[in-house]
Amino acid sequence: MENKKEKTAAELLKEKLSYKPENGSKKLSVEEIAAADAYCEGYKAYLDKAKTEREAVTEAIAMAEKEGFVPFDSNAPLKAGDKVYLNNRGKALLLAVIGTRPITDGVTIAAAHIDSPRLDLKPNPLYEDSELAYFDTHYYGGIKKYQWTAIPMALHGVIIRQDGSTVTVSIGEEAGDPVFCVTDLLPHLGYEQMKRPAGEIVRGEDLNLLIGSRAFRKDDESESVKLNILNFLFEKYGVIESDFLSAELEIVPAFHAADVGFDRSMVGAYGHDDRVCAYPALTALFSCGTPDYTAVTILADKEEIGSEGNTGMQSAFLRYFIDDIAAAFGAKGHHVLSNSICLSADVNAALDPIYPEVMVRSNAAQINYGVCITKYTGSRGKSGTSDASAEFMGKIRRLLDDADVLWQIGELGKVDAGGGGTVAMYIANLDVDTVDLGVPVLSMHAPFEVVSKIDVYMAHKAFLATMKR
Ligand code: MN
Ligand code: MN
Repeated sequence: MENKKEKTAAELLKEKLSYKPENGSKKLSVEEIAAADAYCEGYKAYLDKAKTEREAVTEAIAMAEKEGFVPFDSNAPLKAGDKVYLNNRGKALLLAVIGTRPITDGVTIAAAHIDSPRLDLKPNPLYEDSELAYFDTHYYGGIKKYQWTAIPMALHGVIIRQDGSTVTVSIGEEAGDPVFCVTDLLPHLGYEQMKRPAGEIVRGEDLNLLIGSRAFRKDDESESVKLNILNFLFEKYGVIESDFLSAELEIVPAFHAADVGFDRSMVGAYGHDDRVCAYPALTALFSCGTPDYTAVTILADKEEIGSEGNTGMQSAFLRYFIDDIAAAFGAKGHHVLSNSICLSADVNAALDPIYPEVMVRSNAAQINYGVCITKYTGSRGKSGTSDASAEFMGKIRRLLDDADVLWQIGELGKVDAGGGGTVAMYIANLDVDTVDLGVPVLSMHAPFEVVSKIDVYMAHKAFLATMKR
């Protein structure tokens, strides 16, 4: 028996006139959801190999070389279909596929960042207290400090020894590796601690990493636990204490990416912000063939601390790269930039029903509703944002709709609830039409962040559709 009810005039009118984002798990075909799940297997593998900006660059170059990308040579001629990459100090990466249209028609940029909140070792980190050995840290990026205690941590980075040689370190990732941790006070004795404001429950100077507890047995030297660690480091890596001065060592959660939920609909991992946009920006570039407009993917460093420095997006390295590409066609870089478009590929906060008070539902992104377009970020009356134009928003939504990309809009929380920024404004400042587009994240900046597989896949489709414009 058919039980189909005729739609009322009001229902039909609502369908025609109202903006209503849709849940991808209801709207998408079984095949498309399966494609999203399959896509995220590659993403999870990337997450586990690329926990730091350096590793994200190394892994991206390995992937790009398999796709036929070669190091960019600013003196070599360029032609449509060429695939090049420029490694900026091992910590940021530019990749381009040269398109068929004149370079002065502009390029299509997808700009993600590959640094994530973490604990960095101080320049002189090793100390002993009460016969326990520690690394002293200085946190990097915006974190809730109490979240970084009592979880297994891994140590990643590089040490430049006095003789100039480089030691690459990764401890805590392989099965059987030791891990490290920041200890916390037991609840039994935490009475006074728990009365402190949450921002001071664990203080910045309390984030000390426990790295050893046994003394060097051969004599009765003071600080013999520290000495034992130094001995281990020397025997294993040929490193002495002063070598820490010329090192970048990062403490990151040791756990690996995992499916979340009985339905495996989500991925939980450290560092989704912003590898969850970096990876799709890479795979889209690899899939775009020879585009009409030259396509550029940027993996930037230092976003979490303001995009300063020569590997951050406030640096001139993008401008120089575009200048060099333009010069290969006898054009000027600024003529290319002025006609270019950019998706600032960064995450937004997903509506968390446990904390609905920081969001306005009508302008909040929800997981499974697709990739999120964020017209502006910033704080206190749109301060610190480029705020995309109506015209550019119109162009992007048409591109996404034409390619059947599931998308939604999102604001970063209620007015004056807080705020944040991305690299969008630094690229917009180069006279490039720019808007933020990325994946909604639950528990952003926590050691274990959560995203929806559907949304990750839609980010890939969105970057691809834009590159193929
Ligand atoms: Mn971000
Ligand atoms: Mn962030």
